Formats: sequence, structure tokens, C-alpha cells
Amino acid sequence: MKTKKSRFDFSSIRTVSLLYFVIFAVLLLLLVWFLQNFLINNYYEEMRISEIRTSAKMLENKYHFNRKAFNDAAVDVSKNSGVYILVSSSDGTISYNYGAGVQPVSLGYDYEISEANTNLRNSNLNSVSITTKEDDSDLYTLVYASYLNPDSKDEILYLVAPLYPVRSTVQILRSQFHLITLFSLIVAVVLALYLSRRLSGPIDNITKSAVELSKGNFNVKFNGGMFTETNELARTLNTASYEMQRSDSYQRDLIANVTHDLKTPLTMIKSYAEMINDISGDNPKKRKEHLRVIISEADRLNKLVSDMLAMSRLQSGNIILDKTKFNIVEAAEEVFETYKYLSEQDGYTIKFNKPKATYVYGDLDKIKQVMINFISNAIKYSEDNKNIEINLKKAFSGKTIRFSVLDHGVGIPADELSHVWDRYYRTSANHKQSVDGNGLGLSIVKGILSLHNANYGVTSKEGVGSEFWFEMDVVKK
Ligand code: ADP
Repeated sequence: MKTKKSRFDFSSIRTVSLLYFVIFAVLLLLLVWFLQNFLINNYYEEMRISEIRTSAKMLENKYHFNRKAFNDAAVDVSKNSGVYILVSSSDGTISYNYGAGVQPVSLGYDYEISEANTNLRNSNLNSVSITTKEDDSDLYTLVYASYLNPDSKDEILYLVAPLYPVRSTVQILRSQFHLITLFSLIVAVVLALYLSRRLSGPIDNITKSAVELSKGNFNVKFNGGMFTETNELARTLNTASYEMQRSDSYQRDLIANVTHDLKTPLTMIKSYAEMINDISGDNPKKRKEHLRVIISEADRLNKLVSDMLAMSRLQSGNIILDKTKFNIVEAAEEVFETYKYLSEQDGYTIKFNKPKATYVYGDLDKIKQVMINFISNAIKYSEDNKNIEINLKKAFSGKTIRFSVLDHGVGIPADELSHVWDRYYRTSANHKQSVDGNGLGLSIVKGILSLHNANYGVTSKEGVGSEFWFEMDVVKK
């Protein structure tokens, strides 16, 4: 399957991250622009006012203390902050003036000073700060005025600070703004492209590997790159591909097993039929013997096909249980009787330990089928020690009843124990012994018991024996 990549795929990682980065940059620029245009003036004024106030307080103290110190400090403040300093008495005589490092200066701030003076006299405060603007100019000026002697109110200290520098600063910032805009947009685009490449790289790799996998190449490895999430995804996919590989080889084995199991009896039937035709046709004894083989092979085929049918019905969930309340002791007894008769001839000793009549709810025939399977397996895999024990015992203080079949036969290797319930699974012991069987019995048992919500299991030791069991809830009669 090929995915067509358009140049402008609006849901691709690249486009989306580009978009988000650009939006981020634009928002940032808007914020800077807003700050520059609306807040910086106020902010600057606040700063200026507090700076001037601090300087004024310092100058007031020095004025009373020592005129020389006041002069020196005034020169400093004036030079550093670009402030014009003036002290005038109430009658208007100027006792000190100093402006921005030029001495003496002519009074350039008559308007501002008279405004501040009026403000101070009209208020009942000891100091005021005002912002003034002459009608014909667009320069704002910050004026601070305070009484040097609050009691006599005879001398006033003025600090005049032009606010124009902020405007030029804004101008400079504004011209820088274009540069910042360009720079941040370029950075956003570069970052977005870089990040999207880092991100989409591993995803592209994973996609390529997945395409390979879908073609049936199970050896493909998923590589997750540098991110935790993509690494996690790659790990999961590697596990999935391993599982697929396993299930694929299991399917292959399965088909091989089934065809083998179907082919063997068919070959036997064909060859024995040919033998009757060519050799034993007129010899009643030989013919009977050959016919016996044909019939037994046909039976085997028949059993295999019906087991396969039962299995596929169970698997597709296409099976309806005919549930009734029945006495499980009686059911086990019936099964036991058929085996007792069969086995006596072959030297088996089958013991049956049973409780009193106990009722369960389920499909009688299917439960009997489970019992038959356990017992016939015990017989099949018994070898020399032919003692078999069937136990029916109440458990969990009579709430459940447990059916088990114990044998002293070949047993099952520990690593194969969990597989005996799988379809067509036959343990390695079978290869040595060529015991008759198709590996479907226990998987049918598993299907039936699962449908009954019954617990079941096996304990076994290779060379010692096995015990297969299931449990059902006891119901009232
Ligand atoms: P089969 O027709 O081969 O007996 P089952 O599904 O009944 O198929 O059993 C699956 C496999 O489990 C058997 O082939 C055998 O290897 C193993 N098995 C089942 N029951 C026993 C047992 N009582 N003792 C030893 N091995 C057993």
C-alpha cells in the first residue's frame, strides 16, 4: 500500500509544528509590540518618578546638613539623571540652580516650575510631582517640588526631568522590532523544520518497516530513534512482529500436521485396497486382515474429521450447550463402566473413587466427552505401569466437585505442559512412541470446559505420570 504525500499536507507533523511555531512567534511579537506602545511610557514614568523622589529626599537632607555636600550631590544627580535642579525662596529669589552639567544655566523651565509651584501651594502636602506639557511642544516634563522647611515653607526644591528620552527609546525599539520580527520568524521556521524532521524521521522509518512487515518480511526491525514514545512504539511493534512470526510458523506446522494426519490413513487405505485387488482377493484370511486395516484407518479418518469439525465449531462459538442438572457421579460411573470392560482385556487396573450423588449444571454429553478424553489419554500414555485412578471428590467445603484421572505413564516434560491444550499439539514423547492420536482431544476439552466456566488443569512429571482434572460448581438437586 502506498501513501501519497502531497506537498502541503496540512495534517503532517511538519506543517502543524511550523504553524504552531509561527503562531507562537507572532504572539510573542504582539506582546512585545503591546508593551512598547502602551506600557513602556507608564512604566518609564513610574520609574522616573520614583528615581526623582529618592534623589530629592537625599538632596533635602544634604541641604540642611551641609551646603557643599548638597552642591556636590546636585551636580551628580543632574549629570547622571539629566535633571534640572533649582531652589527658590518664597519671594522668587533663586538661591541655587543647576542644570545638566552646565553652570550657570538660564531658566528654561519657567512654565513647568510655576505649574509645580501652584500645585504645591494648593495642596496641603509637603511635596508634589506632576507631568506637564507645553501647548506648542510635544515634550512631557516631570516636575517634582517640595518644601525644604515644611514648617516655614520659605524655600522650595524643584527637580525638573524631561521625559523625552523614553520617546526616542521607543523609536529605537520600534526600528529594532522589525529586526526582532524577522529574526524570530526565521528561528521559529528553522526550529519547526528541525523538530519535525527529528520527529517524523523515526515515524517514517517505522512506517517503512511496517510496510515490509505487511509484505510478510518478519525479519524487519523497528527503530524508534531518540524519543521515548517512538521507542516505545518500535518496541511494541517488534514484539508484535515476533508474535506474528510465531503464529505464522504455528499455522504452517498446523497445516503440515493436518495434511500429514489426513494423508497417512488415506495412503494406508489405498495400499491395502490395492493389495486386496492384486494379492489377497482370493485368500479369505489375508483379505479379512487387510480389510480390518482399511476399516480401522477409515475410523481414524472419521474421528479426525469429526474432531476437526467439533474444534472449528467450538472456535467459531457456533456451539449451543444443552445444559441440564445431572448427577456427575452417575455420569462418571457410566464412562468408567465402558472403560472397565475395555481395559480388563489389556491388563489395565482402573480404580474409581466416588462420593455420594452430586449434582452439577452443564451439558451431560460434553462433560462425558471430557471424562472420556482424560481416561483414554491415561490409557494411551500409560506404558508399563497400567494402574489408573479416577477420582471424583468434593472440594471447597462441598461447593465444587473435582474430577481427576491419575496415571503412572510417560508424563509430560515441564516446558511442554502448557501446550498440551493447544490444537494439534502432541508432546515429544509421541514421536518416540507413535501413539495413535491427532492432538485435538485436549483442545476440544479446553473449549468445552471454558464454555462451562470450569477450572481445569494438569500436573505431570516426565517418566512419572500425569493427573488431568476439572472442577464444576455443585448445585442442589
Ligand atoms: P492426542 O490425540 O494426541 O492424545 P490430546 O489433545 O488428547 O491429543 O493430547 C495432546 C497431547 O498431550 C498428547 O499427544 C500427549 O502428548 C499429551 N498427553 C495427553 N494426556 C496425557 C497423559 N495422560 N500422559 C502423557 N501425555 C499426555
